[in-house]
Amino acid sequence: MPRLTVALTFDHDSISDGVRRGDPPVKMSHAEFGVRVGAPRILALLAARGIDSTWFVPGHTLETFPDSTAAIVGGGHEIACHGWFHEDAATLARDEEREMIERCATAVERVAGARPTGWRAPYWSLGGASLELIEDAGFAYDSSLMADDYALYRVRRGDRHTDTEGSRFGPEGRLVEVPVSWALDDWPHFEPSATGDRDGLSAPSKVLEIWTEELRYAHAHAPGGLVTVTMHPECIGRGSRMAMLERFIDAAEALDGVVFDRLDRYVAAWSASVRA
Ligand SMILES: [Zn+2]
Repeated sequence: MPRLTVALTFDHDSISDGVRRGDPPVKMSHAEFGVRVGAPRILALLAARGIDSTWFVPGHTLETFPDSTAAIVGGGHEIACHGWFHEDAATLARDEEREMIERCATAVERVAGARPTGWRAPYWSLGGASLELIEDAGFAYDSSLMADDYALYRVRRGDRHTDTEGSRFGPEGRLVEVPVSWALDDWPHFEPSATGDRDGLSAPSKVLEIWTEELRYAHAHAPGGLVTVTMHPECIGRGSRMAMLERFIDAAEALDGVVFDRLDRYVAAWSASVRA
């Protein structure tokens, strides 16, 4: 394994959730920016820097914007699943969720030529059965949980917490977790909260400091590890934030032994090294 791997991941939500919710025009236009401006800008930067990345694309985005999808696939990036209409899995019935997962996997297979191996829950929200359904659908990894930072781990099945028996932890399954974190997500730093509160809008310099310090810490203390950054084209695609992303890439490239890679490849290499 390289000294440190950085995975730039993009949740290409676009208007998938706005369509489901019936969002008003301004919110829909904010989401459309991701397809119209953000994604092409990001893809141009990645091509210029020779970086392969992972895109979690809702089925609705995938099919509504075929040119955007083709540009991602054509750029050599991984397409992984992210719901159909960016559903909150905790609100779905089990059969509904199973059908949605299969619909997403089939749509990605149609455009990418191979069944996807990665799933990221929209809103990082999982229902009680979600991880089991994702594993049973043949996915190799999920990227929605936070129990580690720079190390992958296998997801447990069937944890039980009761007053009478306390906490009983189930056995590890096959599904690999690629952990995420709010600090390494562009959205909570840069976008208004759900109530419209804009106080949280950060200076890019602040976010660059957090992300770069995560990078340096992982480089020093987590050999062979992975730093996963979550971004959204409608958010990171704004000029000042693109400039920040370029500086973050510069900071990673300045460290010895740092590579950028797609999650499917990192997960496959990790799984092979654990088996060996
Ligand atoms: Zn999303």
